[in-house]
Amino acid sequence: MAQKLKVAIIGSGNWGSAISKIIGNNVKLHPDIFQEDVNMWVFQEQVDGKNLTDIINEKHENVKYLPGIPLPENIHAVSDVKETASGANILVFVLPHQFVYKVCESLKDVISPDCKAISLIKGLDFQDNNLTLFSEEIEKILGISCACLSGANIASEVAEEKFGETTIAAKTEEDGKIFEKLFHTPNFDVKIINDHVGVEVCGSLKNVIAIGAGICDGLDYGNNTKAAVIRRGLLEMRKFGKTFFGGVRTETFFESCGVADLITTCAGGRNRKVAAAFINSGKSIDEIEKEMLNGQKLQGTTTALEVHRFLESKNMTDEFPLMTAIYRIVYEGAPPELLAENLRTRKF
Ligand code: NAD
Ligand code: 13P
Ligand code: CA
Repeated sequence: MAQKLKVAIIGSGNWGSAISKIIGNNVKLHPDIFQEDVNMWVFQEQVDGKNLTDIINEKHENVKYLPGIPLPENIHAVSDVKETASGANILVFVLPHQFVYKVCESLKDVISPDCKAISLIKGLDFQDNNLTLFSEEIEKILGISCACLSGANIASEVAEEKFGETTIAAKTEEDGKIFEKLFHTPNFDVKIINDHVGVEVCGSLKNVIAIGAGICDGLDYGNNTKAAVIRRGLLEMRKFGKTFFGGVRTETFFESCGVADLITTCAGGRNRKVAAAFINSGKSIDEIEKEMLNGQKLQGTTTALEVHRFLESKNMTDEFPLMTAIYRIVYEGAPPELLAENLRTRKF
């Protein structure tokens, strides 16, 4: 019989913890394919004077990042990232995108070449005048193949087993089948496609548009304006994908990773919530993030910055007026009403 696959989860925030519940249960449902014990890397911190890893391993709950949700007992919290990943055949990357490079660099020596990865990260990075996708960065740094998973997946709702869908872009049909077994549940409906660039572009850019939706809410603009932001946002996302990442398919924007994730994030995500509170606060969005999220991290703010730097380097900020307005409101102190002004004067 073929070797049973050992799965390791790299990250344990809000989404990392929610997905560990699914993974922990699914490996037990497929004992012919997966090993039962799953390591989960935890960035160590103290909670009420105790190591978070000890709390997770004793209580089987991530009391800081996903309180109130029992985690399967075969999920083992580990503070050393090399130890977490050592011997793994499948690595699940689920980190805020700002921490990926450091973590990947420290994994270089312990990853075997036949290991496969899947990235649940939503974000893009501007480097050397280019925007990079994290699945491709992971492939480059670790020399292994990397799929990606992204969808309309607010972590708390997934953890509470409310029905939702997700999209996985796998590199081969065989990989797709394995990832479907690892992630699919009756309430977490996996669809496999093969446009990894489209999946990641959607997952990253929708966080920027959700900041725009939050600005609308902060200004009390109502649902019609927010719908206009969502519609224009989707068009800018598609234009961005098609212009800068050749192979992106239009159909991908109609998958869970596209329009569905945009809608859920603009309705109930953290990016929306923090942006709404930022309006009229007199504080920076980073301060509001710290005050409201208890250590969880926004992805839309940093992505707005990376995207803006990229567009500036191409002299194309005017071609993406909504994303540019969002960047200016968040980072340059532009009046938030610029958002509506922009919708009024720029026809799309
Ligand atoms: P989170 O926002 O809860 O982030 C906090 C995590 O970052 C914690 O685990 C914390 O320990 C860790 N951390 C803090 N400082 C660190 C450091 N210096 N180095 C390494 N780690 C550090 O995380 P999340 O919600 O699990 O998000 C991970 C990814 O999943 C993001 O790209 C996000 O967009 C994506 N995602 C999130 C959701 C959601 O609803 N939360 C849903 C889908 C996708
Ligand atoms: P937020 O980070 O805005 O909460 O979005 C979560 C998400 O990606 C839902 O699919
Ligand atoms: Ca960068």
